[in-house]
Amino acid sequence: MGIKVLKFGGSSLADAIQLQKVKNIVLSDPDRRYVVVSAPGKRYSDDNKITDLLYLCKTHIDHNIQADHVFQVICDRFRIMELNLGINIGIDKELEEIRSNLKPGVTADYIASRGEYLCGRLAAAVLGYDFVDPAGLIQFDEKGRHMEAATNEALAAALSQHERAVIPGFYGSNPDGSIRTFSRGGSDVTGSLVAKAVEAEIYENWTDVSGFLMADPNVVRNPKPIKNITYKELRELSYMGATVLHEDAVFPVREANIPINIKNTNEPENPGTIISDTPSEATDSIITGIAGRKDFVVIALYKNMMNSEIGFVKRLLTILENNDISFEHLPSGIDTVCIVISKKQLEGKLQDLLDDIEKRLKPDSVEIYQDMALIATVGLGMTRRLGVSAKLFTALNDAGVNVRMIDQGSSEMNIIIGVENDHFEAAIKSIYDAFVSE
Ligand code: ASP
Repeated sequence: MGIKVLKFGGSSLADAIQLQKVKNIVLSDPDRRYVVVSAPGKRYSDDNKITDLLYLCKTHIDHNIQADHVFQVICDRFRIMELNLGINIGIDKELEEIRSNLKPGVTADYIASRGEYLCGRLAAAVLGYDFVDPAGLIQFDEKGRHMEAATNEALAAALSQHERAVIPGFYGSNPDGSIRTFSRGGSDVTGSLVAKAVEAEIYENWTDVSGFLMADPNVVRNPKPIKNITYKELRELSYMGATVLHEDAVFPVREANIPINIKNTNEPENPGTIISDTPSEATDSIITGIAGRKDFVVIALYKNMMNSEIGFVKRLLTILENNDISFEHLPSGIDTVCIVISKKQLEGKLQDLLDDIEKRLKPDSVEIYQDMALIATVGLGMTRRLGVSAKLFTALNDAGVNVRMIDQGSSEMNIIIGVENDHFEAAIKSIYDAFVSE
């Protein structure tokens, strides 16, 4: 079999008990040769993540307040882990070195990266694997942009020297050697880069859920798991995927045709979800999943003869760009165009945007609908199948949901509807029941 690359998230590394589970998982399969780790996460719901505490140290330093007591909490967690794991990696010396760097001028990236660094040292000792520091291998340019080709080459060369290794996630380095991190949750990206560099057969992403579910369990009771999903479908369901997997983690492995398997450290026998480019052969289900989000604003523009006014939409998009606003959808009719924008994006910007629209596009009317929700029903199984929309809209109608907006790409793999926030839950439930629990 080929090489397996594993990435463990913070909850899988929160304490010595979790690390023991990690050990059992890794050592149960000799193909599991490269392991990427996050920093220890929460042990219980109101616990702190090590990364958050490290950022808190930086905030203290920036405000000229002693960071000692916060750093002490971090030290205690790592010391207890070392003790309970029955290993000796010289954690005290490591912690002292970090403590000596906690002074004005220290970068947030350096401090934040130390959670992964220390966790990597512990995990390497527990597994009996080599420790490979990603600084100098995962490379960023002067502007902070990740350099994919250089990273791939350096990682491939370095890891070829190690039969088995643990690599801390989340960080790499700048051209001057200083530490640079990805955005939050970036260990997923490291895992993906490592998988690509060693030409892995699979990238196992171990977390605290057994893959994706067909719908949010807070909305639908006991939703079925998604066994297989394509990268394309996952993008369409990004409202759902984002909480499990960092968006940027998809690209390196997708390019290299390496599937991702989302697995649960606390339930390792569960097959989880496989994300790949190959649609599932057993497409007994028409839809793959339903995901949505509340709190969008729809701005509806009406202008007579809009369809023959050349450059109208281009000017509209330029106005959005000039106001630094990204949009979610742009459904249009003959004389109408609607822009769907998340409420957050519009904070403090709505009036300026409307003024610009009024001035530069001179629409006949503009209407604003607040408190809208978007729901995407996605599935390659929907493609070229008769009656899918009929079923979906009948279900919504039966549930008394007023559909305010419809958007279907011509790929036919998704139908996006806009409903009022208040109808969000009822809409998702009714779609799920119509397609899944029949
Ligand atoms: N520890 C970092 C964070 O909390 C990175 C990661 O876990 O992926 O964001």
